[in-house]
Amino acid sequence: MHIIVIGAGVAGCSSFLFLRKYLGTERHTIRLFESYTNPLDTQNVIGGGLSLAPNGVRTISLLGVGIVQRVVSSGFECSHAEVRSGAKGSKLGRIYMGSRARYGWPNLLIHRASVHEALLAEALSQDAEDGNIQFGKKVASIERVEETGQLQVTFEDGTAERADLIIGADGVHSKVRDLVTDQETRPEYQGLTGLGGLVDLSVLAPYLAGAEDPCIMTFGEKGWFGVAPCGIRRERITADAKVSAEATGPGKNEAMWWSVYSSEEVPPRDTPQSVIKAQLVSRFGDYEGAVGRIVNALDTGEEGIGKVRLLPRFTMPFLKEWHKTSEAGKASVVLVGDAAHIQPPESGQGVSFAMEDSAALAMLLKHYLDANDNAVKSVQQALSDYTELRKPRVEAIILEALSRADHKKEKGPWEKWAMDWVMWLYFKTATEAQNDLESKYNVEEAVRSYLQAKGKKI
Ligand SMILES: Cc1cc2nc3c(=O)[nH]c(=O)nc-3n(C[C@H](O)[C@H](O)[C@H](O)COP(=O)(O)OP(=O)(O)OC[C@H]3O[C@@H](n4cnc5c(N)ncnc54)[C@H](O)[C@@H]3O)c2cc1C
Repeated sequence: MHIIVIGAGVAGCSSFLFLRKYLGTERHTIRLFESYTNPLDTQNVIGGGLSLAPNGVRTISLLGVGIVQRVVSSGFECSHAEVRSGAKGSKLGRIYMGSRARYGWPNLLIHRASVHEALLAEALSQDAEDGNIQFGKKVASIERVEETGQLQVTFEDGTAERADLIIGADGVHSKVRDLVTDQETRPEYQGLTGLGGLVDLSVLAPYLAGAEDPCIMTFGEKGWFGVAPCGIRRERITADAKVSAEATGPGKNEAMWWSVYSSEEVPPRDTPQSVIKAQLVSRFGDYEGAVGRIVNALDTGEEGIGKVRLLPRFTMPFLKEWHKTSEAGKASVVLVGDAAHIQPPESGQGVSFAMEDSAALAMLLKHYLDANDNAVKSVQQALSDYTELRKPRVEAIILEALSRADHKKEKGPWEKWAMDWVMWLYFKTATEAQNDLESKYNVEEAVRSYLQAKGKKI
């Protein structure tokens, strides 16, 4: 079978790797195409840090000890975050982020590039000289080939590739999704843009070193602001931020910060730093501690203060299906990651879900291709099971996260007062089990139980 993966972000790289792991390359060709010409441009454009949940780290571990060790050692293990209120930063409570003790794998605060680089480097090293991973290949169109029943992907450079299965890992503005939804579903901008950046740990260390939890989220009337170490183990955070010899690679000895930026339209990527700073200063300029320190240092040329990156937030109605088979019933397309479902940042699950999707899809393809000689039927069954298995989990967590997104919007004084009380009460009653639905998930076990429940022999 000839399989093409479109997009070499987290979902695309992990699809490539899981397909190789579970299907192998003897009977199948597996190719990966990315529109950027430089492999790391995606992450350079997006930049910043993210939270990688225990279930995501567990899923990476299925790809091997080396890769999971690489990721874990470049992240900051963060089991709790401290929540504060207003300019003075009064403490409201602690939230559970997920501990290694409970889940076997840690919750990591990590440079976005570290996760992507680890997956991409592994994919490139496995492919070596084979040329199955190609950059500078932007999909222009996808059409059915009458004679063979396959699908043909034509790239903007005029070249084309044929496939029996196309995996759309091409993100929020997925072109492959148009084939599944007949162009009916489009992402909508929420009027809110995430923003954030990285600073040298030395800038924030004086504020983080004494905190019970060095990941601090502050909610104010004019939005929220988070700060945290991003690529360093806790024992290495000292007030003078001494740089250890092992600190190399992205995210080492850096801290991350993140907040929200209001803009009715999607802000242009080249929005001047001074414009972004002005909005942040009007909201947080008088905040004490780390928040005021960062906001006022932006765009001053101070050493150790990185550029602000904007990440527009989109939502999308739930898709009815995540896959489609061509009319002749021979070739199929299927979506993974943000192409299938846009994860609100509040869930902290976008990257983890992209990897779980890829792993589940590859396992189900293996199961049906091994069990049945009819490849076309096997693929159709695998895609339908993949959607049935993954959709309910993903959608339940999206809905839960969207209900929390409201906490980050601007509030009047009374609304903010009420929110502080609700949060305080919540923290008093919350238990570590609150993250179990997301963080306990083991994709291998989930696929096995799903197939067993359907009476399949495993
Ligand atoms: C503000 C914000 C904060 C977030 N915070 C977190 C967090 O803390 N934790 C977390 O887990 N997730 C977080 N997320 C979500 C997370 O970033 C995404 O869910 C994840 O990156 C999705 O990966 P993906 O591979 O599906 O898509 P992408 O990373 O978008 O990759 C898609 C790839 O496809 C390529 N591509 C696109 N179109 C084409 C084409 N026509 N031809 C060829 N290639 C193409 C792109 O260049 C890109 O490389 C956040 C998102 C936002 C907006």
